[in-house]
Amino acid sequence: MFERVDFYAGDPILGLMVEYANDSNPNKVNLGVGVYYDENNVLPVLECVKTAEQRIADPISARPYLPMEGLPGHRKACQDLLFGKDAQVLQDKRVATIATIGGSGALKVGADFINAWFPQAKCYVSDPTWGNHISIFEGSGIEVGKYPYYDKATGTVKFDELIAFFNTLNKDDVVLLHPCCHNPTGVDLTQAQWDELLQVVQQRELIPFMDIAYQGFGEDMDSDAYAIRKAVDMGLPLFVSNSFSKNLSLYGERVGGLSVVCPTEEEAERVFGQLKFTVRRIYSSPPSHGGRVVDIVMNDEALHKQWVGEVYGMRDRIKAMRLKLKSVLETKVPGRNFDYLTTQNGMFSFTGLTPEQVERLKTEFGIYMVSNSRMCVAGLNGNNIDYVANAMAEVLKD
Ligand code: PLP
Repeated sequence: MFERVDFYAGDPILGLMVEYANDSNPNKVNLGVGVYYDENNVLPVLECVKTAEQRIADPISARPYLPMEGLPGHRKACQDLLFGKDAQVLQDKRVATIATIGGSGALKVGADFINAWFPQAKCYVSDPTWGNHISIFEGSGIEVGKYPYYDKATGTVKFDELIAFFNTLNKDDVVLLHPCCHNPTGVDLTQAQWDELLQVVQQRELIPFMDIAYQGFGEDMDSDAYAIRKAVDMGLPLFVSNSFSKNLSLYGERVGGLSVVCPTEEEAERVFGQLKFTVRRIYSSPPSHGGRVVDIVMNDEALHKQWVGEVYGMRDRIKAMRLKLKSVLETKVPGRNFDYLTTQNGMFSFTGLTPEQVERLKTEFGIYMVSNSRMCVAGLNGNNIDYVANAMAEVLKD
């Protein structure tokens, strides 16, 4: 009966995690998956989250179904963070927001919604992008193309090509954009480039879909949302998927949100209804535990403040690791430029290593990074950074 079913080779990044777990090398280092580990190589539970968990646990309460759109406090948390607490667009009630199962759930609900209401739309993703962007949109029946983004030769954005390409797209085509901490390259647009790009988006009546999974890991909470807020100021319709996996270190709780900015309150209400219907058809309603943590942390002034500090702590540790790795590599591999390590933003660094060099790091040194040369800088710490730098220097020498 199932002979026709194709073999699934597995997800390349998640597969790397399994390989890493099975590696017996005592010096192994995991720079593969996009997860933040602290200086002790431990996945942190944020202090603000611990407090929220204590409040949830005492007294232990009933677990009713949540509404399709999730908890009001979770939805408000997404809106405040993305658009700014006092944003006019929120006061005008022009944003339809639902709580989702992680950022992935937001992308899926958004893609299903787009396929239902804009059936002609194609979706364009950056070349390269997070692999699951393509899978999720294709899985929703949408044709996916790529727009020029990363220039391997210079380590910067091919901005002129990007603009020229957007100028060829059709009305209602979807452009999937990373507002900050581009995954996998770590190379972001400047604010001036965002301004120019969004003008083309507006002129050609494209549908911007901004996926923000690392807010707070780039510059700061507000600067990282620049592109989102600029698009809103320009009066663009806009999809935003956001994830709390990284910035609340709540990976397994699966918390995120999908927001659709509409021209009027009335349209936002209709969109909101269709988003709920989309959820009903897939998984009915989101899980409650993570939603309650988000609600408590984000809507309690003191906990929110503590949270921002904790995110900036993670951000600063990653920046420190970037600096350290750069300075060690500069002494070990003279003549080669490692500036990219400190100009790129967020958790990831595109190292420019060849697939063969990445493979050597894995087999000879037990250092795991994605074959496209993406390194998760958050996997570095004081104990492994010299080992990683030495190994990188070794494979770069030959
Ligand atoms: N979008 C980007 C760019 C990501 O890097 C990730 C996770 O790695 C996601 C979305 C998905 O987030 P979540 O794990 O919350 O589903």
